[in-house]
Amino acid sequence: MISLANVDISEIKDAPGSLDLSGQIDPEEKQAALLLSDARLLVKKPIAFRIKLEGMGYGIIELSGWLQTEISLQCCRCLEWFDYPLERNFMVDYHSHPSHPSAISEHVVGGKDDEHPGAVEITEDDICVNNYTGNTLNILEECCAQLVLSLPMVIHCRKECKGLCLQCGQNLNVKECSCVPMEKEGKLSAMGLQLRKIEHG
Ligand SMILES: [Zn+2]
Ligand SMILES: [Zn+2]
Repeated sequence: MISLANVDISEIKDAPGSLDLSGQIDPEEKQAALLLSDARLLVKKPIAFRIKLEGMGYGIIELSGWLQTEISLQCCRCLEWFDYPLERNFMVDYHSHPSHPSAISEHVVGGKDDEHPGAVEITEDDICVNNYTGNTLNILEECCAQLVLSLPMVIHCRKECKGLCLQCGQNLNVKECSCVPMEKEGKLSAMGLQLRKIEHG
């Protein structure tokens, strides 16, 4: 298994050339496990990856990557854990530090990835820049960060999750309870209060 934590880029650092890496990241492997637990990610399956590194000269390396795995998430409505499939396409530029001032060039980003239909289109806003020193890149770190970025904003086990009853705690996806919804009571008493205000001026 290739270690993404220590990728030798000496051959493409200053000269044009490219490196293709693909395989799986074992989420139990020491370095990966540490990064994933720091990011609070419960990864269920090996993380499949395809990474292309392209030397652009002046110590600039352009990375385009694809990741796919499955993680465990907790629904914020019903608190149940569920499996969430994750896929991400991303681009990162690596600049050797200190980077050549004239080396920062505009990158034109291509459109849809024809090889993978349904792949997410990458816009220029998605490209970030990392600095590096020496002849190796820690791509593992970037991969974990990218998994975090691909998490949904709101975590629901399903769109129509009914959540828990606020009074008895029953998971309403499993069965209904007999509590009177508090929300309705609240609305009624608020209405009553307004009526009284109107009556008494
Ligand atoms: Zn839920
Ligand atoms: Zn209830």
